[in-house]
Amino acid sequence: MALPVLYTRHFNSAQRGALGAPAAIWPDHPVRFATATQRIVSAIDNVLVLFFTPFMPTRHLFDRRAELDQLRRRLTARFGPIRDTRRDNPTGQFIHAFIGSRTRDEVSSRVYQRLLQSCGGRWEEIIETPATELAAILAEVTFADQKAPNLKTALRNIRARAGAVDLEFLADLEVEPALFWLEQIHGVGRKIAATTLNFSSLRMRCFVVDTHVWRVLRRFGLVGEQAEAEDVYDAVMEMADDLNADDLYELHWQLKTLGQTGCRHAQCVCTSCCLSELCMKRIEPGAKGAA
Ligand code: SF4
Repeated sequence: MALPVLYTRHFNSAQRGALGAPAAIWPDHPVRFATATQRIVSAIDNVLVLFFTPFMPTRHLFDRRAELDQLRRRLTARFGPIRDTRRDNPTGQFIHAFIGSRTRDEVSSRVYQRLLQSCGGRWEEIIETPATELAAILAEVTFADQKAPNLKTALRNIRARAGAVDLEFLADLEVEPALFWLEQIHGVGRKIAATTLNFSSLRMRCFVVDTHVWRVLRRFGLVGEQAEAEDVYDAVMEMADDLNADDLYELHWQLKTLGQTGCRHAQCVCTSCCLSELCMKRIEPGAKGAA
């Protein structure tokens, strides 16, 4: 019994993803092969979880799903519903996410608009723009000197694999293969890939985990303290199987708002936090880290 329990509870998604590694050496149909592999692994995973869950000491999935419902109700009561007003096309959203890592949202939005104007929305032109010139346009974002050549490489990669710098074709893929396709690009992890699919006009059903969301969910106790960002993604997607793309979008922004305003990295305002009654890491007034 130990092996399947170890597999289902202690392997994170990156380790499970290694089972799809042969796709990298299957040049003709890597996405299709990886999807088939992931489906088989997922089916085995589900059977093992169903069979072994009664013997496991961890909290049951139903408990965590109920906690997620409570969390969503409280966040909505505190911050209200959050629905988008406009959505960018997936290529623009990809570029926005790519240049925006480790940068405040208002700064990355400003720089993205500047970049959009400089090329007139013809993203292919960025590939031909000298890296120094591109770095000057991106100057306000963090690590602009590194992001400029990396963005050119990423767009070149998209053009080589998709035939154009255009990600609209992802609408024809299911979420997992679409994530996989994007994560093949150097510098693209789950956050950029999920942002491209969920925030854009593709409106696909996946959850964006940034540092704020990650921190709040770990403190709240919905995931373990050692959970990596991809583990948080897997856990939320597993619990949130009845949430649609807009619900996941809303959950991201509500958690992020809490992470930026009350549950901050250095200080928590737990006494006035809408989650304090349920939170595993609630910090009492006067304790270290309390605001
Ligand atoms: S109670 Fe405190 S630690 Fe918990 S989510 Fe709220 S601010 Fe963060």
